[in-house]
Amino acid sequence: MTTRTDKHESGSPTLLNWAEVEAYIKRAKDAFEPYRQSAVSQRIDFLRQIAREIDAIRTDLIEASHRETHLPEGRLGGEIDRTINQINLFAGVLEEGSWVNAIIDTANPQRMPLPKPDIRQMQLPIGPVCVYGASNFPFAFSVAGGDTISALAAGCPVVYKVHEGHPQTSSLVSGCIERAARETGMPDGVFASLTVAREVGVQVVTHPSIAAVAFTGSFAGGKALSDAAAKRQVPIPVYAEMGSINPVFLLPDQLKLHAEATATALAASNTLGAGQFCTNPGLMVLLQSPDTERFLSIYGTQLEEQTCHAMLTPGIYRAYSAGVERLKSIGALSLMGEGKNSELAEAAVPVAFRVSGSDFLRNEFLQEEYFGPASIHVVAEDEAQLMEIANALDGQLTAGVWCTDTDIDAFEPLFRVLEHKAGRLIINGAPTGVEVCHAMVHGGPFPATTDARSTSVGTQAIYRFTRPVSYQNYPDRLLPVELRDGNESSIWRKVDGELTRKSL
Ligand code: NAP
Repeated sequence: MTTRTDKHESGSPTLLNWAEVEAYIKRAKDAFEPYRQSAVSQRIDFLRQIAREIDAIRTDLIEASHRETHLPEGRLGGEIDRTINQINLFAGVLEEGSWVNAIIDTANPQRMPLPKPDIRQMQLPIGPVCVYGASNFPFAFSVAGGDTISALAAGCPVVYKVHEGHPQTSSLVSGCIERAARETGMPDGVFASLTVAREVGVQVVTHPSIAAVAFTGSFAGGKALSDAAAKRQVPIPVYAEMGSINPVFLLPDQLKLHAEATATALAASNTLGAGQFCTNPGLMVLLQSPDTERFLSIYGTQLEEQTCHAMLTPGIYRAYSAGVERLKSIGALSLMGEGKNSELAEAAVPVAFRVSGSDFLRNEFLQEEYFGPASIHVVAEDEAQLMEIANALDGQLTAGVWCTDTDIDAFEPLFRVLEHKAGRLIINGAPTGVEVCHAMVHGGPFPATTDARSTSVGTQAIYRFTRPVSYQNYPDRLLPVELRDGNESSIWRKVDGELTRKSL
Protein backbone atom coordinates (compact mmCIF):
# COMPACT_ATOMS: atom_id res chain seq x y z
CA MET A 1 0.00 0.00 0.00
CA THR A 2 1.41 3.27 -1.01
CA THR A 3 0.16 6.74 -0.57
CA ARG A 4 2.12 9.71 -1.77
CA THR A 5 0.75 13.02 -0.70
CA ASP A 6 3.78 14.14 1.28
CA LYS A 7 4.35 17.84 1.38
CA HIS A 8 7.23 20.01 0.38
CA GLU A 9 8.30 22.48 3.03
CA SER A 10 6.44 25.11 0.96
CA GLY A 11 3.16 23.34 1.79
CA SER A 12 2.31 22.25 -1.73
CA PRO A 13 1.99 18.50 -2.27
CA THR A 14 4.90 16.62 -3.84
CA LEU A 15 4.06 15.58 -7.38
CA LEU A 16 5.11 12.07 -8.30
CA ASN A 17 7.10 11.60 -11.49
CA TRP A 18 6.20 9.01 -14.09
CA ALA A 19 8.78 6.43 -13.00
CA GLU A 20 7.36 6.50 -9.45
CA VAL A 21 3.80 6.27 -10.74
CA GLU A 22 4.67 3.32 -12.97
CA ALA A 23 6.06 1.47 -9.95
CA TYR A 24 2.73 1.95 -8.15
CA ILE A 25 0.79 0.71 -11.18
CA LYS A 26 3.02 -2.38 -11.30
CA ARG A 27 2.25 -3.07 -7.64
CA ALA A 28 -1.47 -2.75 -8.38
CA LYS A 29 -1.07 -5.22 -11.23
CA ASP A 30 0.85 -7.65 -9.01
CA ALA A 31 -1.79 -7.30 -6.30
CA PHE A 32 -4.66 -8.15 -8.64
CA GLU A 33 -4.34 -11.95 -8.66
CA PRO A 34 -3.86 -12.46 -4.90
CA TYR A 35 -6.54 -9.87 -4.16
CA ARG A 36 -9.20 -11.34 -6.42
CA GLN A 37 -8.46 -14.80 -5.08
CA SER A 38 -8.61 -13.75 -1.44
CA ALA A 39 -11.53 -15.15 0.54
CA VAL A 40 -14.69 -13.06 0.29
CA SER A 41 -14.70 -12.85 4.08
CA GLN A 42 -11.28 -11.13 3.94
CA ARG A 43 -12.53 -8.53 1.46
CA ILE A 44 -15.56 -7.92 3.68
CA ASP A 45 -13.25 -7.38 6.68
CA PHE A 46 -11.13 -5.01 4.61
CA LEU A 47 -14.12 -2.86 3.60
CA ARG A 48 -15.57 -2.75 7.12
CA GLN A 49 -12.16 -1.85 8.53
CA ILE A 50 -11.92 1.09 6.09
CA ALA A 51 -15.26 2.32 7.43
CA ARG A 52 -14.05 1.98 11.05
CA GLU A 53 -10.79 3.80 10.30
CA ILE A 54 -12.69 6.71 8.74
CA ASP A 55 -15.06 6.89 11.68
CA ALA A 56 -12.11 6.91 14.10
CA ILE A 57 -10.65 10.12 12.64
CA ARG A 58 -13.94 11.87 11.89
CA THR A 59 -13.01 15.06 13.75
CA ASP A 60 -9.72 15.46 11.87
CA LEU A 61 -11.47 14.74 8.60
CA ILE A 62 -14.12 17.38 9.17
CA GLU A 63 -11.52 19.94 10.17
CA ALA A 64 -9.30 19.31 7.12
CA SER A 65 -12.13 19.11 4.60
CA HIS A 66 -13.88 22.23 5.94
CA ARG A 67 -10.62 24.15 5.59
CA GLU A 68 -10.00 22.86 2.08
CA THR A 69 -13.51 22.92 0.55
CA HIS A 70 -15.40 25.57 2.60
CA LEU A 71 -18.34 23.17 2.82
CA PRO A 72 -20.23 23.50 6.12
CA GLU A 73 -19.12 21.17 8.92
CA GLY A 74 -22.61 19.71 9.34
CA ARG A 75 -22.77 18.76 5.68
CA LEU A 76 -19.27 17.23 5.85
CA GLY A 77 -20.21 15.14 8.90
CA GLY A 78 -23.28 13.92 7.02
CA GLU A 79 -21.13 13.07 4.03
CA ILE A 80 -18.80 11.02 6.23
CA ASP A 81 -21.83 9.06 7.52
CA ARG A 82 -22.96 8.51 3.96
CA THR A 83 -19.49 7.29 2.96
CA ILE A 84 -19.34 4.87 5.88
CA ASN A 85 -22.85 3.57 5.11
CA GLN A 86 -21.86 3.17 1.47
CA ILE A 87 -18.81 1.08 2.40
CA ASN A 88 -20.88 -1.10 4.74
CA LEU A 89 -23.56 -1.49 2.07
CA PHE A 90 -20.96 -2.95 -0.32
CA ALA A 91 -19.64 -5.20 2.46
CA GLY A 92 -23.22 -6.44 2.88
CA VAL A 93 -23.50 -7.09 -0.84
CA LEU A 94 -20.38 -9.29 -0.71
CA GLU A 95 -21.70 -11.05 2.39
CA GLU A 96 -25.04 -11.84 0.75
CA GLY A 97 -23.10 -13.04 -2.30
CA SER A 98 -25.68 -13.14 -5.11
CA TRP A 99 -24.17 -10.06 -6.77
CA VAL A 100 -21.89 -12.34 -8.84
CA ASN A 101 -24.96 -13.25 -10.97
CA ALA A 102 -24.29 -16.99 -10.97
CA ILE A 103 -26.17 -18.68 -13.83
CA ILE A 104 -26.03 -22.42 -14.39
CA ASP A 105 -27.37 -24.33 -17.39
CA THR A 106 -26.98 -28.03 -16.60
CA ALA A 107 -25.84 -30.54 -19.20
CA ASN A 108 -28.13 -32.84 -21.13
CA PRO A 109 -25.96 -35.53 -22.73
CA GLN A 110 -29.05 -37.18 -24.24
CA ARG A 111 -30.17 -34.11 -26.15
CA MET A 112 -30.62 -34.73 -29.88
CA PRO A 113 -29.19 -34.04 -32.35
CA LEU A 114 -26.30 -32.75 -30.18
CA PRO A 115 -25.67 -33.18 -26.44
CA LYS A 116 -26.11 -30.00 -24.38
CA PRO A 117 -22.94 -28.97 -22.49
CA ASP A 118 -22.83 -27.82 -18.85
CA ILE A 119 -22.37 -24.01 -18.96
CA ARG A 120 -21.97 -21.80 -15.88
CA GLN A 121 -21.54 -18.04 -15.81
CA MET A 122 -20.62 -15.40 -13.26
CA GLN A 123 -19.01 -11.97 -12.98
CA LEU A 124 -15.24 -11.72 -12.49
CA PRO A 125 -13.19 -8.60 -11.63
CA ILE A 126 -11.37 -6.99 -14.56
CA GLY A 127 -8.08 -5.68 -13.05
CA PRO A 128 -6.61 -2.47 -11.64
CA VAL A 129 -8.96 0.52 -11.83
CA CYS A 130 -7.89 4.16 -12.06
CA VAL A 131 -10.24 6.42 -10.07
CA TYR A 132 -10.43 10.22 -10.42
CA GLY A 133 -12.11 11.78 -7.39
CA ALA A 134 -14.50 14.73 -7.49
CA SER A 135 -13.99 18.18 -5.99
CA ASN A 136 -17.52 18.57 -4.65
CA PHE A 137 -17.78 15.46 -2.45
CA PRO A 138 -14.47 15.15 -0.54
CA PHE A 139 -15.62 11.83 0.96
CA ALA A 140 -18.51 10.19 -0.88
CA PHE A 141 -17.04 10.70 -4.41
CA SER A 142 -13.42 10.84 -3.40
CA VAL A 143 -10.64 8.59 -2.03
CA ALA A 144 -12.94 6.05 -0.31
CA GLY A 145 -16.02 7.03 -2.29
CA GLY A 146 -18.35 4.92 -4.37
CA ASP A 147 -15.92 4.40 -7.27
CA THR A 148 -13.02 3.15 -5.12
CA ILE A 149 -15.22 1.03 -2.88
CA SER A 150 -17.20 -0.60 -5.70
CA ALA A 151 -13.92 -1.46 -7.48
CA LEU A 152 -12.38 -2.90 -4.29
CA ALA A 153 -15.61 -4.83 -3.60
CA ALA A 154 -15.49 -6.30 -7.11
CA GLY A 155 -11.94 -7.55 -6.46
CA CYS A 156 -10.02 -4.85 -8.36
CA PRO A 157 -7.01 -2.94 -6.96
CA VAL A 158 -7.38 0.86 -7.19
CA VAL A 159 -4.94 3.54 -8.31
CA TYR A 160 -6.46 6.82 -7.13
CA LYS A 161 -5.73 10.27 -8.63
CA VAL A 162 -6.00 12.89 -5.87
CA HIS A 163 -8.09 16.02 -6.60
CA GLU A 164 -6.05 19.13 -5.94
CA GLY A 165 -9.03 20.77 -4.21
CA HIS A 166 -8.60 18.70 -1.02
CA PRO A 167 -5.12 17.12 -0.80
CA GLN A 168 -4.93 16.85 2.99
CA THR A 169 -8.37 15.32 3.31
CA SER A 170 -7.35 12.86 0.60
CA SER A 171 -4.15 12.02 2.45
CA LEU A 172 -6.05 11.33 5.67
CA VAL A 173 -8.59 9.06 3.96
CA SER A 174 -5.83 7.28 2.02
CA GLY A 175 -4.20 6.55 5.37
CA CYS A 176 -7.45 4.91 6.51
CA ILE A 177 -7.49 2.58 3.50
CA GLU A 178 -3.80 1.76 3.92
CA ARG A 179 -4.18 0.93 7.61
CA ALA A 180 -7.26 -1.18 6.91
CA ALA A 181 -5.39 -3.07 4.18
CA ARG A 182 -2.48 -3.80 6.50
CA GLU A 183 -4.69 -4.85 9.39
CA THR A 184 -6.72 -7.24 7.25
CA GLY A 185 -3.75 -8.77 5.39
CA MET A 186 -4.49 -7.39 1.94
CA PRO A 187 -1.75 -7.67 -0.69
CA ASP A 188 0.65 -4.75 -1.02
CA GLY A 189 -0.49 -2.57 -3.96
CA VAL A 190 -4.23 -3.14 -3.50
CA PHE A 191 -4.62 0.63 -3.17
CA ALA A 192 -2.41 3.58 -4.10
CA SER A 193 -3.24 7.25 -3.86
CA LEU A 194 -1.22 9.43 -6.22
CA THR A 195 -0.70 13.17 -6.32
CA VAL A 196 0.34 13.85 -9.90
CA ALA A 197 0.35 16.51 -12.59
CA ARG A 198 -2.46 16.43 -15.12
CA GLU A 199 -0.32 14.89 -17.92
CA VAL A 200 0.85 12.11 -15.62
CA GLY A 201 -2.78 11.40 -14.71
CA VAL A 202 -3.54 10.92 -18.40
CA GLN A 203 -0.56 8.55 -18.69
CA VAL A 204 -2.06 6.42 -15.91
CA VAL A 205 -5.26 6.07 -17.93
CA THR A 206 -3.30 4.90 -20.97
CA HIS A 207 -1.06 2.45 -19.06
CA PRO A 208 -1.54 -1.13 -20.34
CA SER A 209 -2.09 -2.52 -16.81
CA ILE A 210 -5.08 -0.26 -16.10
CA ALA A 211 -8.33 -2.08 -16.91
CA ALA A 212 -10.96 0.65 -16.35
CA VAL A 213 -11.35 4.31 -15.35
CA ALA A 214 -13.93 5.96 -13.12
CA PHE A 215 -14.16 9.77 -13.09
CA THR A 216 -16.40 12.49 -11.64
CA GLY A 217 -15.91 16.10 -12.70
CA SER A 218 -16.23 18.40 -15.68
CA PHE A 219 -17.24 17.53 -19.22
CA ALA A 220 -13.83 18.69 -20.47
CA GLY A 221 -11.95 16.47 -17.99
CA GLY A 222 -14.11 13.39 -18.51
CA LYS A 223 -14.04 13.71 -22.29
CA ALA A 224 -10.25 14.21 -22.33
CA LEU A 225 -9.71 11.00 -20.33
CA SER A 226 -12.26 9.08 -22.38
CA ASP A 227 -10.56 10.23 -25.63
CA ALA A 228 -7.12 9.29 -24.26
CA ALA A 229 -8.38 5.80 -23.34
CA ALA A 230 -9.98 5.34 -26.77
CA LYS A 231 -6.55 5.80 -28.38
CA ARG A 232 -4.99 2.94 -26.38
CA GLN A 233 -3.92 -0.13 -28.29
CA VAL A 234 -6.27 -2.08 -26.03
CA PRO A 235 -9.33 0.09 -25.30
CA ILE A 236 -10.82 0.00 -21.81
CA PRO A 237 -14.12 1.24 -20.36
CA VAL A 238 -14.16 4.81 -19.03
CA TYR A 239 -17.02 5.61 -16.69
CA ALA A 240 -16.97 9.41 -16.60
CA GLU A 241 -19.76 11.23 -14.77
CA MET A 242 -19.59 14.72 -16.20
CA GLY A 243 -22.53 16.61 -14.82
CA SER A 244 -25.93 17.72 -15.95
CA ILE A 245 -28.43 20.59 -15.85
CA ASN A 246 -31.16 18.30 -14.49
CA PRO A 247 -34.27 19.70 -16.21
CA VAL A 248 -37.42 20.05 -14.15
CA PHE A 249 -40.84 20.34 -15.81
CA LEU A 250 -43.42 22.30 -13.83
CA LEU A 251 -46.90 21.35 -15.01
CA PRO A 252 -49.93 23.69 -14.94
CA ASP A 253 -52.21 22.11 -12.34
CA GLN A 254 -49.26 21.78 -9.94
CA LEU A 255 -48.46 25.47 -10.32
CA LYS A 256 -52.12 26.44 -9.95
CA LEU A 257 -52.33 24.60 -6.60
CA HIS A 258 -48.79 24.66 -5.21
CA ALA A 259 -46.74 27.44 -6.85
CA GLU A 260 -45.26 28.71 -3.60
CA ALA A 261 -44.23 25.34 -2.14
CA THR A 262 -42.76 24.26 -5.49
CA ALA A 263 -40.73 27.46 -5.88
CA THR A 264 -39.47 27.22 -2.31
CA ALA A 265 -38.35 23.60 -2.71
CA LEU A 266 -36.60 24.19 -6.03
CA ALA A 267 -34.85 27.41 -4.98
CA ALA A 268 -33.56 25.60 -1.88
CA SER A 269 -32.33 22.67 -3.99
CA ASN A 270 -30.64 24.99 -6.52
CA THR A 271 -28.72 26.97 -3.89
CA LEU A 272 -27.86 24.07 -1.55
CA GLY A 273 -24.09 23.76 -1.03
CA ALA A 274 -23.56 26.86 -3.23
CA GLY A 275 -25.18 24.90 -6.05
CA GLN A 276 -22.17 22.59 -6.37
CA PHE A 277 -24.04 19.37 -7.05
CA CYS A 278 -24.03 17.46 -10.30
CA THR A 279 -27.76 16.96 -9.64
CA ASN A 280 -28.46 20.66 -9.19
CA PRO A 281 -31.75 21.69 -10.91
CA GLY A 282 -30.36 24.18 -13.45
CA LEU A 283 -33.20 24.22 -15.98
CA MET A 284 -36.92 24.64 -15.29
CA VAL A 285 -39.48 24.30 -18.08
CA LEU A 286 -42.94 25.85 -17.66
CA LEU A 287 -46.01 26.68 -19.78
CA GLN A 288 -46.92 30.35 -20.05
CA SER A 289 -49.81 31.26 -17.74
CA PRO A 290 -50.59 33.58 -14.80
CA ASP A 291 -49.65 30.72 -12.42
CA THR A 292 -46.26 30.45 -14.09
CA GLU A 293 -45.73 34.19 -13.61
CA ARG A 294 -46.59 33.76 -9.94
CA PHE A 295 -44.09 30.85 -9.63
CA LEU A 296 -41.33 32.88 -11.33
CA SER A 297 -41.98 35.86 -9.11
CA ILE A 298 -41.88 33.74 -5.92
CA TYR A 299 -38.71 31.96 -7.11
CA GLY A 300 -37.00 35.29 -7.86
CA THR A 301 -37.96 36.65 -4.44
CA GLN A 302 -36.69 33.49 -2.75
CA LEU A 303 -33.26 34.05 -4.33
CA GLU A 304 -33.06 37.64 -3.15
CA GLU A 305 -32.93 36.32 0.41
CA GLN A 306 -30.06 33.93 -0.31
CA THR A 307 -26.32 34.08 0.23
CA CYS A 308 -23.94 31.21 -0.36
CA HIS A 309 -20.71 30.04 1.24
CA ALA A 310 -17.38 30.16 -0.61
CA MET A 311 -17.10 27.82 -3.56
CA LEU A 312 -14.93 24.69 -3.56
CA THR A 313 -11.92 26.07 -5.41
CA PRO A 314 -10.88 29.45 -6.86
CA GLY A 315 -11.13 27.87 -10.34
CA ILE A 316 -14.74 26.79 -9.80
CA TYR A 317 -15.61 30.27 -8.47
CA ARG A 318 -14.00 31.92 -11.50
CA ALA A 319 -15.78 29.57 -13.92
CA TYR A 320 -19.15 30.24 -12.21
CA SER A 321 -18.75 34.02 -12.09
CA ALA A 322 -17.66 34.18 -15.73
CA GLY A 323 -20.60 31.96 -16.70
CA VAL A 324 -23.08 34.23 -14.90
CA GLU A 325 -21.61 37.33 -16.57
CA ARG A 326 -21.96 35.60 -19.92
CA LEU A 327 -25.61 34.74 -19.22
CA LYS A 328 -26.28 38.34 -18.17
CA SER A 329 -24.93 39.55 -21.52
CA ILE A 330 -27.30 37.41 -23.60
CA GLY A 331 -30.19 39.51 -24.88
CA ALA A 332 -32.67 36.61 -24.95
CA LEU A 333 -32.31 36.07 -21.19
CA SER A 334 -33.78 38.30 -18.52
CA LEU A 335 -32.63 38.25 -14.91
CA MET A 336 -35.58 37.25 -12.71
CA GLY A 337 -33.78 37.04 -9.37
CA GLU A 338 -30.35 37.44 -7.83
CA GLY A 339 -29.08 36.65 -4.33
CA LYS A 340 -27.06 38.79 -1.98
CA ASN A 341 -23.32 39.25 -2.19
CA SER A 342 -21.78 37.42 0.75
CA GLU A 343 -18.91 38.99 2.66
CA LEU A 344 -16.95 35.80 2.12
CA ALA A 345 -14.34 35.66 -0.61
CA GLU A 346 -15.18 33.44 -3.57
CA ALA A 347 -18.80 33.01 -2.48
CA ALA A 348 -21.23 32.34 -5.32
CA VAL A 349 -24.18 34.70 -5.84
CA PRO A 350 -27.34 32.76 -6.77
CA VAL A 351 -29.06 33.86 -9.98
CA ALA A 352 -32.11 32.89 -12.03
CA PHE A 353 -32.93 33.85 -15.62
CA ARG A 354 -35.98 33.45 -17.80
CA VAL A 355 -36.06 32.78 -21.52
CA SER A 356 -38.82 32.07 -24.02
CA GLY A 357 -39.23 28.55 -25.36
CA SER A 358 -38.36 29.72 -28.91
CA ASP A 359 -35.14 31.41 -27.79
CA PHE A 360 -34.14 28.36 -25.77
CA LEU A 361 -34.65 26.11 -28.78
CA ARG A 362 -32.62 28.50 -30.99
CA ASN A 363 -29.62 28.61 -28.60
CA GLU A 364 -28.19 25.17 -27.94
CA PHE A 365 -25.52 26.57 -25.61
CA LEU A 366 -28.23 27.33 -23.04
CA GLN A 367 -28.03 23.62 -22.17
CA GLU A 368 -24.46 24.03 -20.85
CA GLU A 369 -23.89 23.44 -17.15
CA TYR A 370 -23.11 26.46 -14.92
CA PHE A 371 -21.70 24.69 -11.88
CA GLY A 372 -23.16 26.73 -9.04
CA PRO A 373 -26.48 28.24 -7.88
CA ALA A 374 -27.75 29.36 -11.30
CA SER A 375 -30.97 28.38 -13.06
CA ILE A 376 -32.63 29.12 -16.38
CA HIS A 377 -36.44 29.08 -16.54
CA VAL A 378 -37.81 28.34 -19.98
CA VAL A 379 -41.37 29.53 -20.62
CA ALA A 380 -42.96 27.50 -23.43
CA GLU A 381 -45.76 29.10 -25.40
CA ASP A 382 -47.86 25.91 -25.62
CA GLU A 383 -47.82 22.18 -24.95
CA ALA A 384 -46.35 21.40 -28.38
CA GLN A 385 -43.39 23.66 -27.66
CA LEU A 386 -42.94 22.15 -24.21
CA MET A 387 -42.68 18.71 -25.87
CA GLU A 388 -40.24 20.13 -28.44
CA ILE A 389 -38.06 21.34 -25.58
CA ALA A 390 -38.22 17.93 -23.89
CA ASN A 391 -37.20 16.24 -27.14
CA ALA A 392 -34.32 18.69 -27.68
CA LEU A 393 -32.70 17.99 -24.30
CA ASP A 394 -29.25 16.42 -24.09
CA GLY A 395 -28.59 13.37 -21.88
CA GLN A 396 -28.98 14.13 -18.15
CA LEU A 397 -28.32 12.54 -14.78
CA THR A 398 -31.87 13.37 -13.66
CA ALA A 399 -35.11 14.72 -15.08
CA GLY A 400 -37.94 15.84 -12.83
CA VAL A 401 -41.62 16.63 -13.16
CA TRP A 402 -43.69 18.49 -10.59
CA CYS A 403 -47.29 17.57 -11.22
CA THR A 404 -50.70 16.55 -9.90
CA ASP A 405 -52.71 13.51 -11.02
CA THR A 406 -54.52 15.81 -13.47
CA ASP A 407 -51.17 16.81 -14.97
CA ILE A 408 -50.07 13.17 -15.25
CA ASP A 409 -53.18 12.36 -17.30
CA ALA A 410 -52.70 15.40 -19.53
CA PHE A 411 -48.93 15.07 -20.13
CA GLU A 412 -48.42 11.31 -20.39
CA PRO A 413 -46.19 11.62 -23.55
CA LEU A 414 -43.76 13.87 -21.63
CA PHE A 415 -42.96 11.05 -19.20
CA ARG A 416 -42.19 8.71 -22.12
CA VAL A 417 -39.79 11.26 -23.69
CA LEU A 418 -37.93 11.81 -20.43
CA GLU A 419 -37.23 8.06 -20.14
CA HIS A 420 -34.81 8.53 -23.07
CA LYS A 421 -33.12 11.54 -21.51
CA ALA A 422 -31.99 10.71 -17.98
CA GLY A 423 -30.74 8.01 -15.63
CA ARG A 424 -33.10 8.98 -12.78
CA LEU A 425 -36.66 10.25 -13.22
CA ILE A 426 -38.23 12.10 -10.30
CA ILE A 427 -41.80 13.18 -9.56
CA ASN A 428 -42.41 16.02 -7.10
CA GLY A 429 -38.94 15.88 -5.58
CA ALA A 430 -35.69 17.82 -5.73
CA PRO A 431 -32.92 16.10 -7.71
CA THR A 432 -30.23 16.95 -5.14
CA GLY A 433 -29.73 14.17 -2.60
CA VAL A 434 -28.79 10.89 -4.26
CA GLU A 435 -29.88 7.92 -2.16
CA VAL A 436 -27.21 5.22 -1.88
CA CYS A 437 -29.20 2.00 -2.32
CA HIS A 438 -29.61 -1.02 -4.58
CA ALA A 439 -32.00 0.56 -7.11
CA MET A 440 -30.23 3.89 -7.66
CA VAL A 441 -29.03 4.99 -11.11
CA HIS A 442 -26.62 7.90 -10.97
CA GLY A 443 -25.72 8.02 -14.64
CA GLY A 444 -27.43 8.84 -17.90
CA PRO A 445 -26.97 9.31 -21.64
CA PHE A 446 -24.01 11.30 -23.01
CA PRO A 447 -23.00 14.04 -22.25
CA ALA A 448 -24.05 13.33 -18.63
CA THR A 449 -21.74 10.30 -18.71
CA THR A 450 -19.60 8.42 -21.20
CA ASP A 451 -21.47 5.15 -20.61
CA ALA A 452 -25.24 5.25 -20.10
CA ARG A 453 -25.31 1.54 -19.17
CA SER A 454 -23.85 2.15 -15.74
CA THR A 455 -24.34 3.90 -12.43
CA SER A 456 -21.70 5.44 -10.17
CA VAL A 457 -23.91 5.38 -7.06
CA GLY A 458 -25.60 2.37 -5.47
CA THR A 459 -24.65 -1.28 -5.41
CA GLN A 460 -25.05 -1.79 -9.17
CA ALA A 461 -21.91 0.37 -9.55
CA ILE A 462 -19.88 -2.79 -8.91
CA TYR A 463 -20.66 -4.12 -12.42
CA ARG A 464 -18.52 -1.40 -14.02
CA PHE A 465 -15.51 -3.36 -12.85
CA THR A 466 -16.51 -6.91 -13.72
CA ARG A 467 -17.14 -8.94 -16.84
CA PRO A 468 -19.13 -12.12 -17.38
CA VAL A 469 -17.24 -15.38 -17.92
CA SER A 470 -18.76 -18.72 -18.97
CA TYR A 471 -17.24 -22.04 -17.96
CA GLN A 472 -18.13 -24.92 -20.26
CA ASN A 473 -17.88 -28.51 -18.97
CA TYR A 474 -15.56 -27.43 -16.13
CA PRO A 475 -14.95 -29.94 -13.34
CA ASP A 476 -16.40 -28.76 -10.01
CA ARG A 477 -13.01 -28.25 -8.36
CA LEU A 478 -11.86 -25.81 -11.07
CA LEU A 479 -14.97 -23.65 -10.83
CA PRO A 480 -15.22 -20.54 -8.60
CA VAL A 481 -16.97 -21.54 -5.35
CA GLU A 482 -20.08 -19.61 -6.35
CA LEU A 483 -20.62 -21.91 -9.34
CA ARG A 484 -19.87 -25.26 -7.69
CA ASP A 485 -22.62 -27.88 -7.30
CA GLY A 486 -22.73 -27.59 -3.50
CA ASN A 487 -23.48 -23.82 -3.35
CA GLU A 488 -21.79 -23.75 0.04
CA SER A 489 -22.62 -20.09 0.72
CA SER A 490 -26.29 -20.59 -0.28
CA ILE A 491 -26.36 -17.67 -2.71
CA TRP A 492 -29.23 -17.11 -5.12
CA ARG A 493 -28.38 -18.64 -8.50
CA LYS A 494 -30.34 -19.08 -11.74
CA VAL A 495 -30.29 -22.83 -12.42
CA ASP A 496 -31.88 -23.92 -15.71
CA GLY A 497 -33.84 -20.66 -15.75
CA GLU A 498 -35.15 -20.82 -12.14
CA LEU A 499 -33.86 -18.71 -9.24
CA THR A 500 -32.86 -20.97 -6.36
CA ARG A 501 -30.51 -21.26 -3.39
CA LYS A 502 -30.47 -25.05 -3.52
CA SER A 503 -27.37 -27.08 -4.35
CA LEU A 504 -27.39 -29.17 -7.53
P1 NAP B 1 -12.37 18.89 -13.31
O1 NAP B 1 -11.76 20.14 -13.75
O2 NAP B 1 -12.97 18.02 -14.35
O3 NAP B 1 -11.25 18.06 -12.52
C1 NAP B 1 -11.50 16.76 -12.04
C2 NAP B 1 -10.23 15.92 -12.18
O4 NAP B 1 -9.96 15.73 -13.56
C3 NAP B 1 -9.03 16.58 -11.57
O5 NAP B 1 -8.26 15.57 -10.95
C4 NAP B 1 -8.29 17.14 -12.78
O6 NAP B 1 -6.92 17.05 -12.62
C5 NAP B 1 -8.66 16.21 -13.89
N1 NAP B 1 -8.74 16.86 -15.19
C6 NAP B 1 -9.47 17.95 -15.51
N2 NAP B 1 -9.33 18.24 -16.81
C7 NAP B 1 -8.49 17.32 -17.32
C8 NAP B 1 -7.95 17.10 -18.61
N3 NAP B 1 -8.25 17.88 -19.64
N4 NAP B 1 -7.12 16.06 -18.78
C9 NAP B 1 -6.81 15.27 -17.74
N5 NAP B 1 -7.28 15.42 -16.49
C10 NAP B 1 -8.11 16.43 -16.28
O7 NAP B 1 -13.48 19.11 -12.22
P2 NAP B 1 -13.46 19.98 -10.88
O8 NAP B 1 -12.11 20.52 -10.60
O9 NAP B 1 -14.07 19.14 -9.87
O10 NAP B 1 -14.48 21.14 -11.16
C11 NAP B 1 -14.46 21.87 -12.35
C12 NAP B 1 -15.80 21.73 -13.03
O11 NAP B 1 -16.24 20.36 -13.07
C13 NAP B 1 -16.92 22.44 -12.34
O12 NAP B 1 -16.97 23.78 -12.65
C14 NAP B 1 -18.12 21.64 -12.83
O13 NAP B 1 -18.56 22.11 -14.07
C15 NAP B 1 -17.64 20.27 -12.99
N6 NAP B 1 -18.00 19.34 -11.89
C16 NAP B 1 -18.86 18.35 -12.12
C17 NAP B 1 -19.15 17.45 -11.12
C18 NAP B 1 -20.04 16.31 -11.34
O14 NAP B 1 -20.57 15.82 -10.38
N7 NAP B 1 -20.18 15.83 -12.52
C19 NAP B 1 -18.56 17.55 -9.89
C20 NAP B 1 -17.65 18.56 -9.67
C21 NAP B 1 -17.38 19.44 -10.70
P3 NAP B 1 -6.00 18.35 -12.37
O15 NAP B 1 -6.58 18.97 -11.15
O16 NAP B 1 -4.66 17.74 -12.12
O17 NAP B 1 -6.07 19.17 -13.57
